[in-house]
Amino acid sequence: MATNTGLARQQTTAEGKIHVYTGDGKGKTTAALGLAIRAIGHGLKVGIIYFDKGGDYYGERHILDKLKNDGIIYKAFGYPRMLGNRFRFDNIPQDLQEAQAAIKQAQEWLKTDLDLLILDEINTAVKTELLNTDDIVDIIKQKPTQLELVLTGRYCPPEVMDLADLITDMKATKHYFSQGLDAREGIEY
Ligand code: ATP
Ligand code: MG
Repeated sequence: MATNTGLARQQTTAEGKIHVYTGDGKGKTTAALGLAIRAIGHGLKVGIIYFDKGGDYYGERHILDKLKNDGIIYKAFGYPRMLGNRFRFDNIPQDLQEAQAAIKQAQEWLKTDLDLLILDEINTAVKTELLNTDDIVDIIKQKPTQLELVLTGRYCPPEVMDLADLITDMKATKHYFSQGLDAREGIEY
């Protein structure tokens, strides 16, 4: 029996698909966010879980906070990776705990009446050894029929790709980061 999320409206799709947005090009997280906006526009209920994305510098979250009554809930996990204007790439024990907490949250939300669940950067968390491939496979296997599930992040494991219904591989045909640009507020985060 699905638990009610408390979100305002309800409209259930017949059969939810499994999407993977991966690759080294820009647009994975923002594609998922665009889909979330489209979904709530039709009264669907949307949940977003951010893996390994602690910190308060992601611009979209200020807007998501305002959209709670329109059908979006989100939770962010992870210790901040950006310290000052530098990224931290090593894993500290808290990173692993946060990843496990994010998985637990995903499993809880799988039991709710959400129509769309976005697990942002979950694929990347396998590459960075915060999660195992089986953590994602288990989530996919628990997916309720109606739920549309979106898994974003580079380096999607092949086992996850095998289970997906849709894979979009963002290809960095050109990217200004190769010219040494820093991440920009409002564009990259
Ligand atoms: P977006 O969030 O813009 O949709 P994405 O989810 O496809 O992008 P990620 O791999 O999650 O991309 O990277 C987050 C952001 O950081 C992206 O906007 C990406 O273009 C940018 N980025 C990628 N590589 C670098 C880098 N080396 N330095 C700074 N920023 C980078
Ligand atoms: Mg991303």
